[in-house]
Order: sequence, then C-alpha cells, then structure tokens
Amino acid sequence: MPTSRTPAGPTPPTPGPILGAHVSSAGHIDLAVGHATKMKAEAVQVFGAAPQQWRRKTHPQTDIDAFREGMTQAGIGPNFMHGIYLVNLATADSEHLTKGIASLSADMQLAGGLGVAGVIFHVGSHKGAGFDAVLPQIAQAIREVLAESPPNVWLCLENNAGGGDSIGSRFAELGAIREAVGNDRVRVCFDTCHAHAAGYDLTDAAALDEAMAEFDREVGSDALVAVHANDSKTPLGSGRDRHENVGWGTIGVGGFRNLLAFDAFRSATWLLEVPGYEGGGPDALNLRVLKALREGKRLPRIPKKPEGGGEKTAKKATGTVGKTSAKKRGKTGTKVGTKTKAATKRKAAPKSNAATKTGARKSSAKKRAAKTEA
Ligand SMILES: [Zn+2]
Repeated sequence: MPTSRTPAGPTPPTPGPILGAHVSSAGHIDLAVGHATKMKAEAVQVFGAAPQQWRRKTHPQTDIDAFREGMTQAGIGPNFMHGIYLVNLATADSEHLTKGIASLSADMQLAGGLGVAGVIFHVGSHKGAGFDAVLPQIAQAIREVLAESPPNVWLCLENNAGGGDSIGSRFAELGAIREAVGNDRVRVCFDTCHAHAAGYDLTDAAALDEAMAEFDREVGSDALVAVHANDSKTPLGSGRDRHENVGWGTIGVGGFRNLLAFDAFRSATWLLEVPGYEGGGPDALNLRVLKALREGKRLPRIPKKPEGGGEKTAKKATGTVGKTSAKKRGKTGTKVGTKTKAATKRKAAPKSNAATKTGARKSSAKKRAAKTEA
C-alpha cells in the first residue's frame, strides 16, 4: 500500500486562539475556577505565590485537586502559571540566584499538580553586565529548574518591554537562551504590550510580518505557546511596560486583528493582563472583544476611555502581572560585535528599535501588583 501524503497546498488555518485571562488565586487557588467561569474565560493564568515575596504558602492538596478537576470539568485550559517578580536569573548575587531557582522549581512542581501547561516568567536583568556575560548562568539555572520539574510542564520565557538592562526584549535573546539550554520544554510567552514597547510595531501589517519572520528565525514559531494579550498605554518603542485595555492603547483593535493572521498566534493560548475597563482587572468585556475579533464578528461596544487616559481607575489593577522594574535608564545590554553566534543573531533587530533608549521610570508596579494579589 502506498503511503498517503498530505496533498500540497495551503494548510488550513487553525480555528483561532484559546482566549483567557489572568485571574486571582488569592485565598484558595481553586477559586480561580469560579473567576474564570464567571467571565467566560477559556483559559487562565494564576500566580502560585504572592508575586512580591519569597515566602510562599503551601497550597492544601485538596485545593490543588479542586483546581485541576474544576478546570477539567469546565473545559478550561490549557492554563498557565506566572512566576514571582523577584526572580532574576541574571543576578550577580548567588543567594538571589539560588532563591530564584528554588522559586521557579516550586512553581513547576505546583504546575504539575494543578495540571497547567506551563510556568511563565521574566528572565530578569543583567544590571549592566551585558547579555552575553550572563547567558551561561541563565542557561544553567534553567537546566537546574527543569531537572527538578515534572516532565510535562513547560517553562516559558516572557519577552520584555526593554527598559533598563532587562533581558528578552529582542527575540534573539529569547532564542539564544533556548538554544543555550538545549531543552524543548523551554517555550515562549509573547506579551503584546512588551513587544510593542520594545519597538515591534504590531499595528503595521508589514512590520509585523518582518517581526514574525524574525521571531521564527530567532526563536522558532513552535515555541510560542502563550500570549499575554495586552494593549499598551505607551507608544511604540517606549521601552515602558504599561498594560492597557484592548482598544484603548497604542496597539488598538487593529493590532490584535493583525496578530490573528499568524498561525503561531492562532494556535497559542491568549491571556489578558489588562487593567479592566472599569479598573477591576481583566474582565468579560475585554474577552468579548478578543472573541469577536477571533470569530470575525462585530465588536461589542468598547466604553470610551475616561478623560486623562483612565489612569486613575486603571492604576488599581494595572498589570496584575508582567511588570518589570524599569528603574535604570539606558543600556540595551545587547553587545553587538562579539563572536558568539547568539550575538551575531541579535544584530537583526527591527528597524523600529528606538525602544531601548528610553525607559527611565519609577515603577509603582510593586504597589499595584501587591494590591491585586493579596
Ligand atoms: Zn505579561
């Protein structure tokens, strides 16, 4: 019998992304099931621990089981966890590094119990040392985390807005980390706000084509498993990480529509980390907007953005996750011209790379984040 082959021709497009949101897991982690059902989220992201503390509480096994079974029953997933903000795998402080590895390992263990697909985290900041100098340490740390983790959980690097010496605002850095670790369990979460702030123009279809070609070349489209679907309060290339409601920011509805043209985005799980149109965090309406875009239907009415940018109401819940401490001005940390393969690759930055020069800002992200997740 001859083996049948897939006939040549365009592959049918995937039906569209699974659309979900970051939800609170305060109190009991299984409460996330109710939060998700209420807003009709198809997937969730939760914190496994308070994001601003090293100390973590132990989740009772009954809560863990209730989360896993509840999500399965409700048909919600693939779900994700977000690591704590204190992790910095590029730190020069060995104690800090050890704590970061332990924190990620604990999250990966919990993820296995909860039945979630992956743990998303921010790699950190090299604080002026340069990306190449810290790459081996980052790779080794990730290998240690993976060695102690359940085999069916991904560890996902999140791209960065580019402020200070933060790592991962250029796709090439994410690719270099994946390559250095050499483990397919290292995947990527693409934060739309961070990408736009880092200078990848999501509003321009041609620029996005280029950006995604770069992503595919540097990281590999298969690695894209999660998307933080956030509009951006700040302009293209600002280097500043300020999440906005879908349609209220500089990416706009059109930017999200552009993303849906890519199979890589259509097959990923999208998670909102927005302030909420009423300032209460990711909400049903933001989700409905994304669902309408996915289905090519008429958009629900998006409320008018309050005068003054809505900062006042929005601040309360801005960026339940995804904040970077863009305290330092300046360096991209990307040394061009060294001999490593990774460094050579990183030359291929998008044209709109004005991004990385700005970014000095006092971050009140800590306060905001602490408020949302008691
Ligand atoms: Zn994010």
